[in-house]
Amino acid sequence: MFAVPSCKACRRPALLFGVNRDGMCPLCASLVRVETIARVRIAADAMRTARQTTNPKARLKKIDVAIRNLKALKVYADRGIPLVVPSVSDLLHQALQLRRATASKAGRKHLRKTQEEPNRGHA
Ligand SMILES: [Zn+2]
Repeated sequence: MFAVPSCKACRRPALLFGVNRDGMCPLCASLVRVETIARVRIAADAMRTARQTTNPKARLKKIDVAIRNLKALKVYADRGIPLVVPSVSDLLHQALQLRRATASKAGRKHLRKTQEEPNRGHA
């Protein structure tokens, strides 16, 4: 029986050109590479800014940007597509941890209603 391999990214049978080493059709191979690099960069920048930001609200916003992009990358990783980053799950775990820590700190601050942190407009 002859089975046509399907692309791991678009999941369509790769009838004409087959799939590459990473299991993707030629179109997905180039699109996924470009998208992956962009998302990794955005996530890394967002996490860096988040760590430098003292304002909890601004920090949460940046962490959410990182989480959104890492989750999109994880979809590919879960389909067995090799990505340029070693472990998206680890990065996502770190981002979620920082988010929880920041959110609980911000929540406590809000409840106590102590002095407001000045928004110095980082980010
Ligand atoms: Zn494809």
